[in-house]
Amino acid sequence: MRALLLLGGLVFTAAVLGTLSRPLNMLASFWPANAVMLGMMVRSQRLGSSAVAWSVGALALVTSALLMGDAPLKALWLSAANLAGVLAGWLYFQRVPRRAALLGDQLSPLYLLFGCVVAAFAAALVAFAMGPVLFGSEPRRTFLMWFTSEFMNYMLMLPAVLCAPRWPDWTWLRSPPRVSCVSLAPAAVLVASELLAHLMGGPGALGFGVPALLWCALRYRLFTTTVLCLVVGTVKSVTLSMGMMAYTPEVMEEVASMRVALALLSLGPLAVACTQTLRNELLGRLQHAATFDALTGVLSRAAFIERSERLLARPEAFPVAVLMLDIDHFKQINDRHGHAVGDDVLRGFAERLQARLRPSDLFGRLGGEEFAMVLPGISRAEAQSVAQRLCEATRAQPFALSSGEVGPLHATVSIGIAHQGRLLPERAVDELLRRADVALYVAKRQGRDRCAMHGEETVDDPAGGAAPAAAG
Ligand code: GH3
Ligand code: MG
Ligand code: MG
Repeated sequence: MRALLLLGGLVFTAAVLGTLSRPLNMLASFWPANAVMLGMMVRSQRLGSSAVAWSVGALALVTSALLMGDAPLKALWLSAANLAGVLAGWLYFQRVPRRAALLGDQLSPLYLLFGCVVAAFAAALVAFAMGPVLFGSEPRRTFLMWFTSEFMNYMLMLPAVLCAPRWPDWTWLRSPPRVSCVSLAPAAVLVASELLAHLMGGPGALGFGVPALLWCALRYRLFTTTVLCLVVGTVKSVTLSMGMMAYTPEVMEEVASMRVALALLSLGPLAVACTQTLRNELLGRLQHAATFDALTGVLSRAAFIERSERLLARPEAFPVAVLMLDIDHFKQINDRHGHAVGDDVLRGFAERLQARLRPSDLFGRLGGEEFAMVLPGISRAEAQSVAQRLCEATRAQPFALSSGEVGPLHATVSIGIAHQGRLLPERAVDELLRRADVALYVAKRQGRDRCAMHGEETVDDPAGGAAPAAAG
């Protein structure tokens, strides 16, 4: 219901705006209604396949035309041409891969171009017969003007509708783009190029904004680029049609040619923006895969070491505790129940421990069933009690398994702790992990399912020499 109201409301408003921009007895130079309707139908598969939605769109077009003073026959005919274009465009986009239709693919600008040609052609086909009746112009001319104006309107408006952020989960509201001189530079250059184009005039002025638009496409989000292309194209088309109003019909072909040029101008920036968006998305996925362990979702070994190095280089992180954790007799779990069950235990273990950590703590999987933690700003006694609580949390509750064949499974963990009060001069991560590993070895030797503090155990520390009393 909300979607239907939105569709009707937006198409109606866009049609009223379009009619207001219509020079006397001529076609509107700015007609966003069709692209708005087509974009919404393509975006929402439910809307597109609903006869009610199509009726609401048609009603919005007809009522707006009647309200704006068009005679009933003209209102019906204009709306029929508009609807024919939207329907043809929608049928075309149904055959395009969904991701590509929504500008998520490198080839999207080409799919879009053909979609706009199809929609504009269908609208012009229905419209061209009414030229003599409604405008007193010959059919061939009506076809040309209708096709080029529809093509331009679709090309300018449709990309913005297709990739507009969804309400209410607009990431923009949650993470608004940071505005700085550097981030505003492409937009400022765009404004300057358009002003220069206006001052110099001539047909070549159409392309003055292209370099700045390409820069915008590289710097801004896809939606921002589509909006900039829309604004630049619309301003140009409106000023163009205002200047052309005094032209005699002999230059109609020139107007048509200008409209096609205007429509095609945004294609380059759009292609760059689509490729850039795809590249950023892939880089993000790659970054995520390199940062987080695929099985457990905690930090991967490399990311854990890198972040720990950065954290341990800061004096405010101290006193700090580094914990080395190793699940006990994990090989037996694998041997008895299979690798998949072992994986379930690893996942459950990591999830359970992660929930007990502070946001400032680091938690990573070093490999196999070995994990490590860096807990900044923590005393020796606190580190000991945290480690004990982690041992208890592992022991207390059996692990839920995804396969129904095996019942709940109990597991325990041994933890080695290295505590450091002051900043270490260099290689702090290596040194603290080494000490925690020594302490882990003690915990294992003392019977597992316990924790041991480095410096309080009586084992040979190959690098640090023999250390005193044991802990557990
Ligand atoms: P200890 O108490 O001394 O630590 O004994 P353990 O059996 O836990 O230690 P061991 O190093 O002998 O065995 C670790 C096992 O972990 C061997 C390996 O097959 C298994 N393993 C390593 N990575 C994975 C994994 O990703 N998934 C599963 N299911 N098992 C893994
Ligand atoms: Mg183990
Ligand atoms: Mg191990």
